[in-house]
Amino acid sequence: MIDLRSDTVTTPGDAMRHCMAQAEVGDDVYGEDPTVNRLETLCADMLGKKAALYCSSGTQSNLLALLSHCRRGDEYIVGQKAHTYRYEAGGAAVLGSIQPQPLDLEPDGTLDLEKVAQYIKPDDFHFAPTALLCLENTQGGKVLPMEYIEDARTFATARKLKFHLDGARIFNAAVKLNCPVTDITNHFDSVSVCLSKGLGAPVGSVLCASPELIQKARRWRKMLGGGMRQAGVLAAAGIYALENNIERLAMDHENATRLKEGLSDIQELDISPDSGQTNMVFVSTRGKGTGLSLFMKEKGILVSDEDDLRLVTHLDIGPEDIEKVIDVFKSFFSRSV
Ligand SMILES: *Cc1c(COP(=O)(O)O)cnc(C)c1O
Repeated sequence: MIDLRSDTVTTPGDAMRHCMAQAEVGDDVYGEDPTVNRLETLCADMLGKKAALYCSSGTQSNLLALLSHCRRGDEYIVGQKAHTYRYEAGGAAVLGSIQPQPLDLEPDGTLDLEKVAQYIKPDDFHFAPTALLCLENTQGGKVLPMEYIEDARTFATARKLKFHLDGARIFNAAVKLNCPVTDITNHFDSVSVCLSKGLGAPVGSVLCASPELIQKARRWRKMLGGGMRQAGVLAAAGIYALENNIERLAMDHENATRLKEGLSDIQELDISPDSGQTNMVFVSTRGKGTGLSLFMKEKGILVSDEDDLRLVTHLDIGPEDIEKVIDVFKSFFSRSV
């Protein structure tokens, strides 16, 4: 199956599984799993932070960051369509009593800093104290401009806000910009990165920040039931991913660009212009896609059953698969005309 629904669907190959099988392990709740410790050190170093914490998921990693930066009754500013706000089941509000202040994202995936400024609450007992600004990069497959991130850092510092990055796909952004990932991550107080997206590990995310913040996050992780024992078998996959699967993200981006190009020949489809910046292509069938997902499935291609499709490339999809996907899309629309 060519599965375009997400880059989370990748399965570990032989080399990654070999590392997992060979991993030295211990009880990580005692801090004694050498492989988890190695992953945390490696990831912290790569992202230019002093400490890191291995988490079960990106949802958990983001939640730990919010819980560690904010106190009960604080507020954080976040994009309407940001994962931390929209797709994490309201965890910050439910579990942390942290009030979200969502704002519409700009077309390039940024939050307009003038708008953010308007929503920062004055120091007055009527209001929840605004404590944190949260960005996402990539945001819907889009890479945030570097100058924007620099401006947002300056802004956050001036307004005494903590600054968190949901960097689930931060390596896609760095590969796209062809810059060291630290050029991006240095500007943030904390960064969450997913190992289980384009990097191809089966499980896990890492929160990177200062030792003080990570110490708090470790307590929250334990409270949330996220203290894992011989997690080194999983962390080994994460190490393999960080050591082998970053540069190749460029191929996913090329495949997405080719997919965008191929699908743009099909008149029935609306392709979002931001498609192919990294590994995502956004396609609207404008109501003409009834039966498309079933048709595709019969031909060995998985897409979500929606009018607006997000097609995601990843390490289990090669250039020949992309050609097949374009052909099958074309045959669907030539059939139904
Ligand atoms: C996938 C994702 C997460 C976290 O996802 P989990 O499925 O919980 O690991 C966070 N932010 C973004 C932008 C994501 O795409």
